[in-house]
Amino acid sequence: MKKLLFIILSLFIILIIIILIKTFTYPFKKINSATSQGWKFVKNDSAVQRFSGGLKIPTVSSGELGKFDYSTFDTIKEYLKTSYPLIYENTEFTEVNKYGLVFKLKGSNPSLDPILFLSHTDVVPPGDADIKDKSENIFRPDDKPMTPVSKVSEDWDFGPFSGAVANGRIYGRGAIDMKGMLFSLMESMNNLIKNKHIPQRDIYLAFGFDEEVGGQQGAAKIAEYFKSKNINFDAVYDEGGLILEKGSVAGIDSDVAVIGCAEKGFLSVKIKVKGLGGHASMPPMESAIGKAAVIMQRLEHDQMKPMITPLINQFFTNIGGSMSFVNRMGISNQWLLKPVLLSQLTKNNSTNALVRNDNRFNDDERK
Ligand SMILES: [Zn+2]
Repeated sequence: MKKLLFIILSLFIILIIIILIKTFTYPFKKINSATSQGWKFVKNDSAVQRFSGGLKIPTVSSGELGKFDYSTFDTIKEYLKTSYPLIYENTEFTEVNKYGLVFKLKGSNPSLDPILFLSHTDVVPPGDADIKDKSENIFRPDDKPMTPVSKVSEDWDFGPFSGAVANGRIYGRGAIDMKGMLFSLMESMNNLIKNKHIPQRDIYLAFGFDEEVGGQQGAAKIAEYFKSKNINFDAVYDEGGLILEKGSVAGIDSDVAVIGCAEKGFLSVKIKVKGLGGHASMPPMESAIGKAAVIMQRLEHDQMKPMITPLINQFFTNIGGSMSFVNRMGISNQWLLKPVLLSQLTKNNSTNALVRNDNRFNDDERK
């Protein structure tokens, strides 16, 4: 009996030693803390002002394709033209399907394939906040300090088309999705031209205008345009990824810049349920809504099996170094602790989404 206990205890100690060795030798990336100094925010930076001005233009794309107010898209076209004259003078500019915008900056080496950066000018509707929008009061292109403005609605601290620059932030519908990227790209290209820095490859910028409702008139037509001109890209950079504020990634005590390397697929399903009619006083035993509810419940219940894809693993390797010891132990000992790690990840909506994938597309799991 004593001997058996001894063996069990020895095995347990060996197991712990293996786990510890694996944890300490796992190739977590070193994160240089000097790079996380926080933000330096310049309120009157002219780039910020140009961006803020772009946020004021309500380029809303609504559900009914082709029915949205195109005058705002005319406005943003003009706005870009007046804000970045250097780009229009020094690139080949093409309008595809009237509101799709394509810029080509010629590189120095025509034998190399070009690269493409994407964005879109449209934004999703702001909900009911526009009714109380106090946009005029907020933005000041001059040196004057910002007047604090009270919340314009339950959901918006500042108007969705205010382009407000306050509290170290820039507020507005589309600030993240995707005018932020659009204006960053324009600023970058403007700087390349201004500094006479001509890259080797041709650089294309392409902006759609109906991305939020499917992209059929914008991105699809732009793709056709590139195809018709026989242009193949060495790389294409699209939207995806943000700088997540401290606390957004569980277990990490700093901002995290996430780079979108893959996109989840999606499936839209229309379910029709038929039931019997009848008077509310004598409802059928099983109503159409009751049946539909059962279907919904099953769909919600039968989730994709959680798994850690190679890409997620890479993410862990990159950021895991600044996670707690327990988390690092889980990441580096997935041979044993994967279920524990997965149960942690599935507790949070965003990390749950990261680990629920259709395994048909996962090479690792297929083997
Ligand atoms: Zn978008």
